[in-house]
Amino acid sequence: MLSDDDLNRYARQVIIPNFNENGQEKLLNTKCLIVGAGGLGCPVGLYASAAGFGYIEIWDEDIIDATNLNRQIAHKNNKVGHNKAKNLAKECLEINPNISVKFEPKNFSVSSNIKNFDIIFDCSDNQDTKYTLNYLSHKYNKILISGSAVQMEGQLSVWKSGLDKTLPCYECIFPKTTEKAPITNCREAGIIGPITGFIGSMQVSEAIKEVALLNYPSIAGYLFLYDGFSQSLDKIKIIKNNDCPTCSN
Ligand SMILES: [Zn+2]
Repeated sequence: MLSDDDLNRYARQVIIPNFNENGQEKLLNTKCLIVGAGGLGCPVGLYASAAGFGYIEIWDEDIIDATNLNRQIAHKNNKVGHNKAKNLAKECLEINPNISVKFEPKNFSVSSNIKNFDIIFDCSDNQDTKYTLNYLSHKYNKILISGSAVQMEGQLSVWKSGLDKTLPCYECIFPKTTEKAPITNCREAGIIGPITGFIGSMQVSEAIKEVALLNYPSIAGYLFLYDGFSQSLDKIKIIKNNDCPTCSN
């Protein structure tokens, strides 16, 4: 049962057909992990908190730098030099003190324990972390909602290969290669802030669908490509690789 305070707080969600009080209770019972508290992690944390995901944990060992402030929208000028995960957790609780938000000043690794989470938000900015998130999310049957953004372009995807063996995983479409990867991080290639805002907020929109709006089609198995230069959005169907080292077993 939702409290009167929660009914009031989430009133504009609860009135949506197929969402209602039942959907809000599902969100409140969902445990989320946000990996990375930067350009994607900030909007993911803020929107996930505002929506009422009941338990949120944020991991990032990075320190806020002045060059982060054009996009990492939860981090204010007076927090330069502070830990990103700690500061984002504080901002999330200021939006919504009715939920539980924890942080760890650490990065994600293959030994990370994700068993207790329902939804994993990939807000990382490097390929190694994305492969590790994909591997562990597949192994432990988690929903992985992945975002990436560089310059004026972004990608959005939902991975559920552990829960449904017919679905592809991240590595099916982005196989590991020994060739030098193209530069895809914001530090070296640059980034326009609203692009991370757009992709991050869509990550939370998809998470709400996966938990509380099950009447609508999941985007698992598709890759969304957003191009802010030409203002276009493409939806690509991903074919499962039957030899994929992560999801074919
Ligand atoms: Zn795969």
